Order: sequence, then C-alpha cells, then structure tokens
Amino acid sequence: MHDRSQEDDGARVVLGSVSDARWASILNTAVDGIIVIDEDARIMIFNRACERMFGYSAAEVAGRNVSLLMPPEHAQTHDAYLSSYRRTGHAKIIGIGREVRARHRDGTFFPIDLSVGEAETPDGRQFVGILRDLTSRKDAERRLNELQADLIRLARVSALDEMGSALAHELNQPLTAIMLYLQAVGREFARAKEAGHTAEADGRAEAILEKARREAHRAGSIIQRIRSLVEKRAPERKEVELNAIVDDAVDLTVIGQDRNVTILRDYQAGLPLISIDPVQVQQVVVNLVRNAYEAVKGRKGGRIVVSTGAEDRYLVVAIEDNGPGIPADKVSELFQAFKTGKRSGMGLGLAISRTIAQSHGGDLTVDPGGEGRGARFLIRLPIAAPAPDRLEQEWTRPRASG
Ligand code: ADP
Repeated sequence: MHDRSQEDDGARVVLGSVSDARWASILNTAVDGIIVIDEDARIMIFNRACERMFGYSAAEVAGRNVSLLMPPEHAQTHDAYLSSYRRTGHAKIIGIGREVRARHRDGTFFPIDLSVGEAETPDGRQFVGILRDLTSRKDAERRLNELQADLIRLARVSALDEMGSALAHELNQPLTAIMLYLQAVGREFARAKEAGHTAEADGRAEAILEKARREAHRAGSIIQRIRSLVEKRAPERKEVELNAIVDDAVDLTVIGQDRNVTILRDYQAGLPLISIDPVQVQQVVVNLVRNAYEAVKGRKGGRIVVSTGAEDRYLVVAIEDNGPGIPADKVSELFQAFKTGKRSGMGLGLAISRTIAQSHGGDLTVDPGGEGRGARFLIRLPIAAPAPDRLEQEWTRPRASG
C-alpha cells in the first residue's frame, strides 16, 4: 500500500508555491476535464476541457451543484452520497476510475471515464474529478461491433451457400411429394366420378390432402429457418433453452448428409435458461458439426456426438467426432482466419465461432485428438450474461474493497 498522507503533503507544497494564475493555465491546458467541488458539491474549478465537454462556461457553473452535470437519476442521489460520506467516511467512488454517464448542457448524455480524489485544504475538504470523454471510443466500439456482426452474418450466408445443393434437395423432396399427392387426389376424383362413388372418394381425398398439407408445412419451415439465418438483423440476446437451440442447429446441419454418418445427441435435461443470441450460437454449432462431418464422412463407422451439460457457471456444448483428429502442428493456427485444411474452405468457421463464443463472455476450445482419436470442440457459455454495458451501472457503487 502506498502512503496517501505523504502524497497529500507533496501536493500541498506544490500548491503553496505556484500562483493561482499559473494553476489556472495548467488546468486549462490539461486534455482531461478537471472539476473541483467543495464539501457541499459546489463547483469551484471547471477547466477548459470541461467547458468543451459539457458546453457550459466555467463562469456559468461556478458555485452551482455538480449534479447539474449528471443524469437525473444520479443527480438525485449524489447529495445523499456526499453527506453520507462526510458522516461515515465510507467512500463509494473515491479513488477508482469508472465509466459513467454525464449530462451535456443541451440535455444529451455522453459516456465519460471519471476518477475522483479528495484533498484536505485550508478551506475544507475538496473533491477533484478527472474526466475523459469516451464518446469517440464508444462510437468506434459500436462501429467495430457492427462490422463484426456483418462479418458473422456473411459467414453464415456463405455457409448456407455451400450447403445450397443439399438445401435444394431437401426442399425438393416435400415439394415433389405435394405434387404427387395432389395428382393422386385428382385421379381419385376422376375415377370416383366415372363410377358414381363421389362420397367415398371424398374421404380418401381428404386423407391424401392432409399429407400434402404436412409436406407443404415442412417445406415452409425449412425456408423459414434458412431465412432467419440469412436475414440481416442486429445481434440480440434472448433467454432460451440451450438444448432446443442446439438440436435445431444439428437438424439443419444433417440436411442432405451421408446417412452412414451417425449423429448422437446427448443433451443433459433440466439445464437453466441461458441468455444468448440464438442465431449466432446455432451458427457455431452448425460450423462445428459440419467440420466434424467433413472429418468423418466416407470413413467406416463415422460418428459425431453432440452433447450439452453444465460446468461451474457455464453451460457447455461439446461436439466430438471419431475422425483423424487435428495434427499437432495445425492446432495453433486452427482458430486463425483464412487457415484451412480444405480445398474449398474459407478457414473462417472456427475463427468466427470463437469470436461468437467470446462475445458471449464464453470461449471455444479444442481437444485436438489425433493418433486414432477424433477432435473434440467445447463451447462454453456463461449462465449469467456479462453486463451488456457498463454505462448502465450506477454513478456511484460501493467499492469492492475498502
Ligand atoms: P474451413 O472449414 O473453412 O476450412 P474452419 O475454420 O472451420 O474453416 O476449419 C479450419 C480447419 O480445421 C479445417 O479446414 C480442418 O482442416 C480443421 N478441422 C476443423 N474441425 C476439424 C475436425 N473436427 N477434425 C479434423 N480437422 C478439423
């Protein structure tokens, strides 16, 4: 622990030897905003960076309560915090930098990083706030997130593109069936009309039409699923059942695949709901199951096991195959973009899958197997979602350690 009293002494010596004008010019050249308030939260110093940040001039805010610069929900509680601090000495924000929202003169809010120190002065206790405007960093983060979401979607579209012929085949089946059923109904009626038994034909036709309806429904739901994977949409978190999400993704992946590959599904029952972007997590499962399929297809007794479970504060999905595994010298570049072992591969699947898992606060790891053992990929997703935005946190929050 460093000695704070010594530091305070140092500051006082310096203060005593420099003129007010010198101090003002130093404060005004600082890139960061600097605000000094007294024990009653009245603004005493408001440097030029603050003027730029908040749109107020120092003269306008001098002597006013600092809550002027906070969003209403914090402004209300700030005085109470200050007086509780004076009474109890229990600091809730002193000494720690944190991200909070600030209020501009025009009524808009913007994110800042705020750290607060305190100083004993001959005029009483004062608090010094150092502020950094985070708006441009936040904008950059947002743009980066948007780009990432676009890339993730692009990978999804390209994966579907690769599955194109299998999907066409899958759709063709129900559509052909519908056509055959409808022809059969037509024939039924023609025959019945000739023989004069139309009432009997009605019953049979109804049964056939019901089959045709079921097939049409199947075709529709396949198209619906594809649409939801291709659609441009903002990433979203939903509380979902992991098993259902995984199962759906596996269904989609096995479309049109080699029937000689066995896919076993081993889902743990009773898992808690989890807050995830279901489409993105399905994308990861589809990627991993397709890779596993590529690794085992054409091999005798090819087998993929998809399982779910819980580990500590995480839900896990494991995808394991009995293919050749991944050679030791390939493991390090496995999750790098554009590294592929396939002639037609883009090498994006695993890189994007890991990005998705990590953006959920989880991870994607691999046991590469090899020497007779297949690879095993593990997706880990936290049960309690990470705070989506630290800005939503309180302006003041109890300090983790005293
Ligand atoms: P792509 O599938 O486009 O090549 P990926 O990032 O999904 O890109 O995979 C990269 C490479 O990792 C694959 O080309 C393949 O060589 C290897 N790989 C991935 N999964 C497995 C697996 N289950 N078994 C063996 N090799 C695998």
